[in-house]
Amino acid sequence: MGIRQVREIGDEVLEKQCKTVTKMTLRTRILIEDMLDTMYERNGVGLAAPQVGILKRIVVIDVGEGPIVLVNPEIIETSGEQTGEEGCLSVPGKYGIVTRPNYVKVRAQDVDMQEFEIEGEGLLARAFCHEIDHLSGKLYVELAEDGLHDPSEEEDDEFDEYGEDEE
Ligand code: ZN
Repeated sequence: MGIRQVREIGDEVLEKQCKTVTKMTLRTRILIEDMLDTMYERNGVGLAAPQVGILKRIVVIDVGEGPIVLVNPEIIETSGEQTGEEGCLSVPGKYGIVTRPNYVKVRAQDVDMQEFEIEGEGLLARAFCHEIDHLSGKLYVELAEDGLHDPSEEEDDEFDEYGEDEE
């Protein structure tokens, strides 16, 4: 079990292009295990290698249906559209409204470097797009249509609205 430090927005490692994984080594297997441990520990639905400071094209995802490991993922098909809330472990305590395809098909390799395809809709499609964007140094904040929101501040606003001190 290895929990790694999650890099946060402003760290330049999050803005770099990741390198293709050419062979699976023990070191890379340990990285993948640690990425899964870190994602679960932080209650995330996905994590990309640059978020733990490693510039390799590796993503892990779990939207509640079990772990998915994507090595060298590429989006090969998309359709539809969804607009909804999106957050990121590298942008703690914030969320934004982002439009993504509602259906995404991905071609990737597994931990044994075997090629496979996987498709997802809704949250899984969103996770594919978000995590694969990380591999090109892109954060969802560039796509957030209405800036970034802080849920705790919004709760405070609501409280004030109904507070007795209001004039
Ligand atoms: Zn993210």
